Amino acid sequence: MRLEDKLFLNHYRVDSIPHIKIKDPEACLKCERHQCTVICPANVYKWDEGQRKIIVGWENCLEMGACMVACNEFDNIDMVYPRGGYGISYKYG
Ligand code: SF4
Repeated sequence: MRLEDKLFLNHYRVDSIPHIKIKDPEACLKCERHQCTVICPANVYKWDEGQRKIIVGWENCLEMGACMVACNEFDNIDMVYPRGGYGISYKYG
C-alpha cells in the first residue's frame, strides 16, 4: 500500500488554533537545508520563496514529532499536541 493511500485512511478533526509554530521566522532565513520540508511525510512544511518563509499546514499533521528532530540546527519548531478532541485519529494502527 502506498503512503498516500495509508494517509487517506486517517481522520482529522482540525483545530482552529495551530498546534505547531515557527518560533523565529528569521531563523528560517539562515537555514540552508529546510529539513522540515523534507522530513514530514504529511507535507506540513512548505518553503514559500515569494514570502521567504515556511508555511505550516498543521491541518495535516500526524503528531509524531519528526520535524522537531529534523530542525536540529535551529530548534525552531514549537509543537504541542492539539487540544483534546482535535487532531488525528488513526485507522488500522
Ligand atoms: S528546519 Fe527549522 S530553521 Fe530550517 S526552515 Fe524548517 S523550521 Fe526553519
